[in-house]
Amino acid sequence: MKYEIFISEKPQNGKSIKEIKGKPVVTPVQVHEANVAFIGSVPEKPLVADGLVTDTKKLWIGVLTADCLPVFLIGEGVVGIVHAGWRGTLKGITFNAVSYINKFSKVRKAILGVGICGKCYEVGEEVYKLFPHEYKSCFKEIGERKFLLDLKEANKLQLRAAGVPEIEDLNFCSVCNNDRFFSYRKEKTDKRTLSAIRLI
Ligand SMILES: [Zn+2]
Repeated sequence: MKYEIFISEKPQNGKSIKEIKGKPVVTPVQVHEANVAFIGSVPEKPLVADGLVTDTKKLWIGVLTADCLPVFLIGEGVVGIVHAGWRGTLKGITFNAVSYINKFSKVRKAILGVGICGKCYEVGEEVYKLFPHEYKSCFKEIGERKFLLDLKEANKLQLRAAGVPEIEDLNFCSVCNNDRFFSYRKEKTDKRTLSAIRLI
């Protein structure tokens, strides 16, 4: 269960990182859905997915975010990475990624990366209404039809439900820690933070 993680910091735009320590970085075309793709080598054409899983040590798998939550997954001889915004979370991307890995291995640990925190993520009532009952504790009403959403807590619920025994939170927020990481909400930037993981 040896792995290494990489998180890009300002001023570097994570989109421009194609290689880390001499090994290629594979990122998917992220579409806020809940599909997971397995890769064994650098794909010839871009994969459309919001979660990647690999068992090779030859590459990094990563996601690009600016507020959405990256979730790193570590199993026996396998690692995964998830891009979870509210839409993907609602569709169960993190639960799906763990379940996918658990079909042939076992996720031992998850790490919540740099994502917008529960004090900074304001959403409307329409978002609140879409989430089923078990997620209501992740919302805090702050005004008329306004809520704060704790995306990390929502993904922790999925990790626990999928049976992940250890969950670590790096406690970085793209808004609170905007000096180091990009935030679309705060900056309206098209630059992104790259969060990547590889087996070693
Ligand atoms: Zn914050």
